[in-house]
Amino acid sequence: MSFLFPTYQRFDVKVKSASGAKLVDENDKEYLDFISGIAVCNLGHRHPDVQKAVEEQLNQVWHVSNLFHVSLQEDVAELLVQYSDGDAVFFCNSGAEANEAAIKLARKYTKRHKIITFEKSFHGRTFATMSATGQSKIHDGFGPLLQEFVYVPYNDIEAVKKAMDETTAAVMLEVIQGEGGVVPAQAEFLQAVQHLCQENGALLIVDEVQTGIGRTGKPFAYQHYGLSPDIITAAKGLGSGLPVGALIGKSRLIEAFGPGSHGSTFGGNPIALAAAKATLQIIFQQGFLNEVEQKSAYFMEELQKRLSSVPFISTIRGKGFLIGIECGEKQSELIAKMRENGLLVLGAGPSVVRLLPPLTVTMEEMDQALNIIENICIQEKNSL
Ligand SMILES: *Cc1c(COP(=O)(O)O)cnc(C)c1O
Repeated sequence: MSFLFPTYQRFDVKVKSASGAKLVDENDKEYLDFISGIAVCNLGHRHPDVQKAVEEQLNQVWHVSNLFHVSLQEDVAELLVQYSDGDAVFFCNSGAEANEAAIKLARKYTKRHKIITFEKSFHGRTFATMSATGQSKIHDGFGPLLQEFVYVPYNDIEAVKKAMDETTAAVMLEVIQGEGGVVPAQAEFLQAVQHLCQENGALLIVDEVQTGIGRTGKPFAYQHYGLSPDIITAAKGLGSGLPVGALIGKSRLIEAFGPGSHGSTFGGNPIALAAAKATLQIIFQQGFLNEVEQKSAYFMEELQKRLSSVPFISTIRGKGFLIGIECGEKQSELIAKMRENGLLVLGAGPSVVRLLPPLTVTMEEMDQALNIIENICIQEKNSL
């Protein structure tokens, strides 16, 4: 008997404690956590610097509302601006709220309504962000959606051209579709979309809720492609497990979000921002990100090598530590078997096993995970 709405289909694991890449359940079984709270605990569980920052903040002040100046907000905003193409930050509590703010800001600034998004995208569960999401399974049963979202095929520039007109406020996209199946955009496509936006007076919104905060080896994944988005949204990895989201926008947008235009009671909460500040001070260091690039390159190479002869695996793709293994109908079976063998991974789309190790994962932990993945896939192959 549960007192919860069954909105999630949960694993049969009850977590007792967690530290780094390790997670311990009620029966004292140990797991290697390659889910990281869905790309949230990018520094592993309970990173000591983040824990210390939160503990110190707990002894100072928990919440005052945005009627007051909160200097931590300035500190975290400065870091986000310094390491992105944006100039000003709005804080909220989740990815959906960051995208909700982006949709409102784009409409208000451009005085236009149409927003072009992509098939298989995921932008959140509020009414506007659900409407932005190009997946009917997310829409089903909720009645009429918010108007003027147009979904076009990903990586299809002709389709974007056709949809773009003088009523288009923005194009909103993930540079790697996370929930949709770890599907990367092509560099030329992204460049062409940005160019098209500039030509037509539409904004480019990049949803970095999953790909941001070092996950792909750069502060934000769009930086692999030389883009300069008008709006960037972040959340998941930003607070290392404390709830915080952010919209980062260019300076010309600032006046469209003046006093009274948008808000959030909890947005920019001091405890969450203490966690965010400690998180960014580690992750945005070039040395840390170089190490992420090196470790993730090793991990990807090993996966490719060890799984090359497995017939049901067609592609392994992604960037940094956002990795998808395309394995057709084996998806749920492989995820369950890996879990039984002490490795936590998750799905993406209907046929992809997604790996999201903490960015702090060690060589030893990677090798341990590689052995589990290899053994299970080879066993599966031999039983065919
Ligand atoms: C998870 C996710 C969201 C939604 O974030 P929530 O914090 O669950 O509201 C939005 N966009 C992308 C790309 C995501 O991965």
